[in-house]
Parts: sequence; structure tokens; C-alpha cells
Amino acid sequence: SSGDHALQPTPNDCPLPRRRSDFATFTEAVEYAAKSAKGMNFHDMRGTLENVYTYIDLHKDAVEMAQRFRAAGIGKEDRVALIAETGAEFAALFCGAVYAGAWPVPLPLPTGFGGKEGYIDQLAVQLDSSDPVILLYPAEISEMGAAAAERQGCEGSDWESFATRPAPECELTPPEPDDICYLQYSSGSTRFPTGVAVTHRALLDNLAGHSISMDVGANDRVVSWLPWYHDMGLVGCFLSVIANQVSIDYLKTEHFARRPLAWLDLISRNKGNTLSYSPTFGYDICARRISSQSNVADRFDLSRWRTAGNGADMIRPDVMQNFVNAFADAGFKANAFTPSYGLAEATLAVTVMPPREGIRVELVEEERLSGTPRDLSRPARYRAIVNCGKAVRGMKVEIRGENGAIKGDHQIGKVWCQGTSVMHSYFRNEEATNECLVDGWLDTGDMGYMTDGYLFIVGRAKDMIIINGKNLWPQDIEWAVEQLPGFNHGDIAAFSIDKDDGEEAPAVLVHCRVSDPEERVRLHEQIRDKVRSITGMNCVVELVPPRTLPRTSSGKLSRAKAKRLYLAGEIQAIELPVAA
Ligand code: ATP
Ligand code: MG
Repeated sequence: SSGDHALQPTPNDCPLPRRRSDFATFTEAVEYAAKSAKGMNFHDMRGTLENVYTYIDLHKDAVEMAQRFRAAGIGKEDRVALIAETGAEFAALFCGAVYAGAWPVPLPLPTGFGGKEGYIDQLAVQLDSSDPVILLYPAEISEMGAAAAERQGCEGSDWESFATRPAPECELTPPEPDDICYLQYSSGSTRFPTGVAVTHRALLDNLAGHSISMDVGANDRVVSWLPWYHDMGLVGCFLSVIANQVSIDYLKTEHFARRPLAWLDLISRNKGNTLSYSPTFGYDICARRISSQSNVADRFDLSRWRTAGNGADMIRPDVMQNFVNAFADAGFKANAFTPSYGLAEATLAVTVMPPREGIRVELVEEERLSGTPRDLSRPARYRAIVNCGKAVRGMKVEIRGENGAIKGDHQIGKVWCQGTSVMHSYFRNEEATNECLVDGWLDTGDMGYMTDGYLFIVGRAKDMIIINGKNLWPQDIEWAVEQLPGFNHGDIAAFSIDKDDGEEAPAVLVHCRVSDPEERVRLHEQIRDKVRSITGMNCVVELVPPRTLPRTSSGKLSRAKAKRLYLAGEIQAIELPVAA
């Protein structure tokens, strides 16, 4: 069976192992990796190895793709939109576009957009903002791809047809370090995804920075199911493995969604030191799939998983603890956890926890987190804030107040960063650029504080609920409701709305899996009481059907979208039998 197939590390066979920092452009990095027998292994849902794609193959195919682009008149600074399905085709098209001097624009797959029309709408908006000359898509989604391209008035083609076009030899001019390499869309947690223009220099500096922080070595191997249309998957698990000349084992994101434990099966079979990253929800799903009776040691061996990266969203210490409890018997070590913090506007990583430090938390009073005076009539509540590590090489981090003044240690404010991998601009969006870039410093939109050079993230400023001058963090409400029996991570979204009486109130939408009407009434009251006890306010609580809370294509809860859909009547609350 496929389970017998051990993934052996290949010796580092590059003639001259080079550090990431020696590459001035991504093109150089790919060409160098092509001297190695390492590469990408693509697995199916059952974990069977489907395709070994060496960096030698990748380079060869990319040159051919570049010639094909050039023959089609596509070259310098043209945008090439690519539906980012994990596989050799995307890899060759992405690198080929870069070789041709064009700027690849990875776009999401159809899952999670509410059907064909929703997906075509999403693509159309992203095609409009990136203005590509061509959209390339996998044959399985030809109909939707063609419809989106037609709506935008750009050319559309499936990968297979494109690959049959002529690829006459031609001169390919190497890029300069300050040329743009590709466009990366932000996740769209607080707004519609916005395209960041990433230069070769920014990319290479960020790759060097986080690889040094994570101490990536020649005999490491990466395992990933992260989507390539998200920065954590594209930069962290595609561009980075090429530049580091390490091999990687991929599981498609949709396969991970259907069989999450296939991820841990792959890690178990890997005989080298493993690095693998996930947002909180990935660890959560796996921990919940394991029942307390099952013998995880028989199925998994997670003892060589040396870096279990956490990031992309709030890191939940309780979820990580559940994961450790579930998988300690399989050899998982809690100090493998490696928190990091980053964002598309900084290419990827801003801070990374030093190796083997694990998850470290500080307990902070919730009222201090939201900057509200303490209400002495109610007991103090605390949140465990995760230490997200130190700035990567080339990056500076500052905490600033509303007036721009730099805050001292332990003082909460806006997180700003500056460095060689911070963007110069969003793509053709001066307004959004000017909102967050000031004198080369980036306002990340996140709130946090620093202690001895370590960064602690508290939450997104845009998500903060402000009612009558009192601030509330939605996650403090959401996580408290989650503690009630029957709820999971991601079942609750909190935001503020205007009530009929003109006042503002926190609104809480909760996935409801209970079908008995009276049970629902009881549940509703229980949640309302819970939220009132935390906020000291009357809240609007709505039970909604499971899976209706919107997530970004990278799997994060979008409170802004939940609010928009709820107010537009597109998320319908379940009606309760009596006025509650
Ligand atoms: P958009 O900017 O379009 O609203 P987004 O900010 O979620 O979406 P990304 O750039 O993919 O898009 O994600 C970066 C954001 O993810 C950060 O600004 C931060 O809010 C969150 N994030 C990343 N790492 C962490 C972390 N370790 N802890 C808490 N939040 C994190
Ligand atoms: Mg953002």
C-alpha cells in the first residue's frame, strides 16, 4: 500500500549549496535549484504519490512556458492570472511567467464562493483590479474560467490547450532585483482582497529572513496542504522550498478538507526533519478527529516534525494544547510549535519565534486589551496572548499610538513594520496604499504590543467593536461562547450593528446544530446571558445554520463579510418559536 512508501530525504546534491541571501532574483533561485535532484511531490487524497516534479523539470518547463508566453506576445510587466491549483502545471506557469518578465497573479479555486456565479463574480473583481492579458485555469473549471475571462474582456485558456501552443526559442532577459515578481492578493478578512506588488528583492529578503529564523537546513523537508493563492502557501510552501533547495510533499487543500488526517499521515511517512505550517483551524480539525480512545501511536509518527508553524490568524493556545494532548502519544513535541506573524503587504513573515521555544503566552486582562477602563462590578477576565516571536532579518517592528508616538514595552498600540520586504504599493491602488504606507513604514492594521523585542498580537483594529466609547474584541466574545458545550472553533462571529432603537449593540451569529425548537430557545438564552456577562451589554444573538459564517479563501473567518451578509439578509437567522 502507499503507506509503505517512505519519503527518503535526498542528499543535498547541489554543487555549491548557497544561502538564500545570495540570490538577487527569484529567477536565479529557480535556476540554482535546478542543479539539484530535489523537488515537489504531489500526493492524492489517499496519500499515494502521484507525481514527482524535480526542480530540474520545473526549470525546463518554465523556460518552455516563458517561450510560449513570449510567442503569444506576453512579456514585460503583463499580468498573467493563474488559478492556483496545487500541481506541476501551476508551478511551471508561475515560474514561466516570471522568466518571461510577466507578473503572475495567483487566484483562488472555486470552493467556498457559494457556487458558480459567486465564484465568477469573485474572479471578475480580481481580474478587474489586476487587469491581466490572460487567465489560465485547470480544464475542470473551464466553463467558469472562460466566463470570468469573457466578462473581463481578457483572453482565457485552460492549461492543457495553452501547453499545446508553440514555444519557439527566444532570448529571455533576466529580471532586475527591483522589478516586480508577482502580485499577491491579501486574504480579504476585513475588505475585498487587495493585490500587493511583490518585487524580487522583497521576496528574496523575506525568504532569507524567515528561513534563517526557522533555521531551515539542507536535509529538511516540508509537508503542506496550504493553498497557493494565499501568501502562507505561495511564499512559505512554494517559493521558499525552491529558494532553500529542499523537497516538499503536497496534499491538495480540498483533499485536506475532506481527509485532514492525511496531512499527518504524510508527515508520519517522512523520514527527514519536517517543517509544516497551518493556521489554528488546521490543528483544530485534526485534534477533533481523534477520539480519546483511538491509539494514535499505531497510525502516526510525528516525532520528526521539528517545526509546526502557526500563523495567518489568531493563534489559539487552547486549540494547540488540544492538539498536543491528542498527538503526544504519536511523538508530537509541543516545542515544535513555531508561532509567526505576517501579512501579504510584508511579502509574508514579519516575526518568527526562535526554534524550539514553542507557544508562550501572557495573560492579559481583557479590558486592558481593548483599552477600556476596568468595570469593577464584574470579575476580571483574561485572554492568553501568544508570543509571535522576533522580527525576521531585515524587518523592524514598532508599536505606535493613534498620534504616531512610539509605545514602550507592554503598551498596546498599532503594529507598524518597515523593511526590505515591505511592499512599495498595492497594485494600481493609490488610495489603499496611502492609507497604510507612511514614510516607508507599513501600518499593518493589527493591534499588539512588544516585550523585549518579542511581538504579541491582540487583534485586527478594523474588527474591534466600539459601543458608546467602550471597546470590545470580537474574539473575546466568540471564544467565551465557544466554551459552551456543542460549539467549535469558528462557530461564532461577533461584530456591532445598529439596532432599531438607534443604539449600537454587539451582534453575535452562532452556528446552531440543535433541531428541537425548545432546545434552541434555551441555547439562545444561554448564549445571550454569556455574552451579557462578558460585555455588560444587551446583545443581538442569532442562531444561524451550520457552515453559513463566511470564510476567506484561505479559511479565515471574515467578520466584515458576516456583518455585510447578515445586514443584507443573505445570512438568515433561524426563527425561534417564542419571542426570546
Ligand atoms: P485583508 O487584509 O484582505 O483584510 P488579511 O489581513 O487576513 O485580509 P493576509 O495578509 O493574508 O490578509 O493576512 C494577514 C493578517 O493575518 C494579519 O494582518 C493579521 O491580522 C493576521 N495574522 C497573521 N499572523 C497572525 C498571528 N500570528 N496572530 C494573529 N493574527 C495573525
Ligand atoms: Mg490585511
